[in-house]
Amino acid sequence: MKIAICSSEVFPYAKTGGLADVTGALPAALSKKGCEVKVFMPLYKNVKPQKMFDDYGLTKEGKVEFYFIKNDNYFSRDALYGTPQGDYPDNLERFSFYSKQVLELLKKLKFKPDVCHCNDWQAALVNIYLKTTYKNDEFFKKTRTAITVHNLAYQGLFEKDKYPVMGLSWDYFNMHALEFYGKINLLKGGLIFSDIINTVSPTYAKQIQTPDYGCGLDGVLREKRDRLIGILNAIDYDVWSPEADKLIYKNYSVKKLEDKYVNKTMFQKELGLKVDKGTLMLGMVTRLAEQKGIDILSSSLDYILKKYQVVILGVGDEKYQKILKGKADKFKKAFSLNLTFDEKIAHRIYAACDGFLMPSRFEPCGLSQMISYKYGTTPIVHSTGGLKDTVVDVANSGGGYVLDNYSSESLIKAVDKCAAVFKNEKKQIALMKKVMGYNFSWDETAKKYMDMYKKAQTLK
Ligand code: ADP
Repeated sequence: MKIAICSSEVFPYAKTGGLADVTGALPAALSKKGCEVKVFMPLYKNVKPQKMFDDYGLTKEGKVEFYFIKNDNYFSRDALYGTPQGDYPDNLERFSFYSKQVLELLKKLKFKPDVCHCNDWQAALVNIYLKTTYKNDEFFKKTRTAITVHNLAYQGLFEKDKYPVMGLSWDYFNMHALEFYGKINLLKGGLIFSDIINTVSPTYAKQIQTPDYGCGLDGVLREKRDRLIGILNAIDYDVWSPEADKLIYKNYSVKKLEDKYVNKTMFQKELGLKVDKGTLMLGMVTRLAEQKGIDILSSSLDYILKKYQVVILGVGDEKYQKILKGKADKFKKAFSLNLTFDEKIAHRIYAACDGFLMPSRFEPCGLSQMISYKYGTTPIVHSTGGLKDTVVDVANSGGGYVLDNYSSESLIKAVDKCAAVFKNEKKQIALMKKVMGYNFSWDETAKKYMDMYKKAQTLK
């Protein structure tokens, strides 16, 4: 099968969140199973392709080819989508350009994909163009379209007066296509013009068909429910593994768990926290967005920081940065706040901490809980979306702590439960060994994507 994967971020080239982890790992996993895969991403400022030709960059990793669409005016910027103050105002121009170029490049390469697999709103226009502007193009006659929704809350909404930027006929500006309450909605267009849709966990696939989680698109999704599936994300154990991780202080494994505590004490020292193996240390690596439960966390922090330590790594909304800075000033020896995007600190948090905080209000899949497991760090989660599919409470023989409901009280209760087990060394070690043995590898997940591609080819 020939697959074109289109994504605005792909690890290790550019990353703001889980989307990049997924589109970074899936291509190799598909390739191992015999698919011919090419990946298409914008050429951002810090991406250095192995070679350049015309206005494209190319990097080969094994059999997978990564193509980078060049336009310095659009993509040579400090951030991918915007600043903490807001999105770049020309995002529609930027991602229409990217999407058109992907299709033109496919032709130039004479690569006729069986399935064009777009991810999120930024790449949705690739599928939209395929089914509109390019619908009678012989070259793409057999190409089917798939879209993955990594987070329904981000839809790519633009004012109507920008419509001509896309070069699409106004025939498609109606409620059955790209229009959403008078605006342009790229994700909606992507859903409508894709032969098949998936999202990143079975629970989220169900949730998004309801008004509570559907972000206004639940109706569209219900209508397409026969073509909507949930495929749980996986993680790349070549990147995330305490035995081989080059970014942590000392490698460790189930057989040498005491070395996890070397990571803990060295990290405490580096961060200026009280160096103490016996104090519960909780970590969080996150986008600072409403989704991630920063509100219930902030109102729990006074309690938590009097007893335990917390390390947060995150970038995002100024509002949350400010709230968290206030706490960091107050609890200097117990709270380390790192307002940056930093792979090394992220890896060190997973390795050093005893528990990992994910009190997300909603969570399409979540990768951090899977990464935490691998590092023997128990996740503390609100049971929603992919967190529901991956975390069972310790009380029910699972490997994490599940909040009773979305509230500060429940979060505090779950953290105290984590602390109680942590104090009991025998129990804690047994738990760490158990979660480190969990397996969320790409092998199984890639099979599910292949089944989805096959289904896209058979659907009328
Ligand atoms: P989302 O995609 O909603 O951001 P996920 O849990 O699916 O959440 O994936 C988040 C990914 O991004 C994880 O690999 C996490 O370690 C990483 N990440 C998030 N914020 C940062 C940061 N500030 N620095 C480094 N890595 C980060």
